[in-house]
Amino acid sequence: MLFDEAGNSYIDAISSWWVNLHGHANPYIAEKIYKQALALEQVIFTNFTHEPAVSLAERLIEILPGKPDKIFYSDNGSTAVEVALKMAIQFWLNKGISGRNKILAFEHAYHGDTFGAMSVSGRGLFTNAFRELLFEVIFIETPDAGNLDKIKSIVKSHKEQIAAFIYEPLLQAAGGMRMYEAEHMNNLLDFIRSQKILCIADEVLTGFGRTGALFASESFHHPADMICLSKGLTGGFMALGVTACSQIIFDAFLSDDRTKTFFHGHSYTANPLACTAGLASLDLFLEKTCQKQIKEIQNQHEKFVQKELSKVSGDYFLNIRILGTILAFELNMGKNEYTNQAGAEIMNQALLQGIYLRPLGNTVYLMPPYCISTEQLKKIYRFILEIPFRL
Ligand code: PMP
Repeated sequence: MLFDEAGNSYIDAISSWWVNLHGHANPYIAEKIYKQALALEQVIFTNFTHEPAVSLAERLIEILPGKPDKIFYSDNGSTAVEVALKMAIQFWLNKGISGRNKILAFEHAYHGDTFGAMSVSGRGLFTNAFRELLFEVIFIETPDAGNLDKIKSIVKSHKEQIAAFIYEPLLQAAGGMRMYEAEHMNNLLDFIRSQKILCIADEVLTGFGRTGALFASESFHHPADMICLSKGLTGGFMALGVTACSQIIFDAFLSDDRTKTFFHGHSYTANPLACTAGLASLDLFLEKTCQKQIKEIQNQHEKFVQKELSKVSGDYFLNIRILGTILAFELNMGKNEYTNQAGAEIMNQALLQGIYLRPLGNTVYLMPPYCISTEQLKKIYRFILEIPFRL
């Protein structure tokens, strides 16, 4: 719940931009951060390390798809992506292979707001002002039953130039909660790997249970060479980014030759309070109760869609879809785009009912914290069913 200055309360139905897993001000995480703050609040992460950073790295490696070998810390989702892109490009140079410096990415992707992350994101409203300054990227469609051959031929024609392929596994969130099938992606990933292109899974949003599994990449046969994490990583308490990578990547940088160094470090890299929040959030996340809550949210969404939302007549709700704890649909009002005013109108109407929703244009979605109660979910569902009468 969130509370305003007048004491009104609001159900945070989007987990404060998808970061909050266990509810706001969770006392277990808060207590752990407090204790850590009394011991070490911050230390430079060059030449130094500390216990929370080591423990978090060890625990993440155990649960991440493909059990990566190394963890590189930064301080948000965009920087986790920047790190992965820089690692991929320098990897090939360090191996003495020049010309492999292009990135392959999906249309409609969103990977963050810094320049590298913007460059590998779909071109559009968020990036238009900077279009000429973004580096050139090879864009492909997300795979479906009909386009695999076309995508493969694009990849093949550029294969000698491509350093890495970056993708949001199963869900393109900021791009409009677009979902795509694991089956076709597996087919594409098999091909991309056969072309010796590195793979970067951007699990900044999809990590930590959002899509039902611990990580969305669990649906794929092949683990990625690099995995980006942030958002739910600390349960929504502190800013932290992680880029996990395999030994093969690490080994390309391990050298006495200083030109092979990966020169990337932020002041707050691996902040001890953030790592402690990460450890505490993991404790809660891996408990059976939390895993049950995740399944329960999916069950509730499915029941709601089957019994109520899909039965509403009049074509108000289009393309209803569920992935784990995420429910999304389009309102049949005007164009499908971020600037569609329906989103702002729904947000205001929801606030009046004590619910915080923030649609992406006319795409409405729910992405609640895992501790949400059945009653709270029902209240949100009721609001959704009333949308046609409110607009
Ligand atoms: N990657 C994905 C898939 C995201 O959804 C986001 C944020 N919406 C980012 C990267 C960027 O994360 P941050 O906002 O922490 O920079």
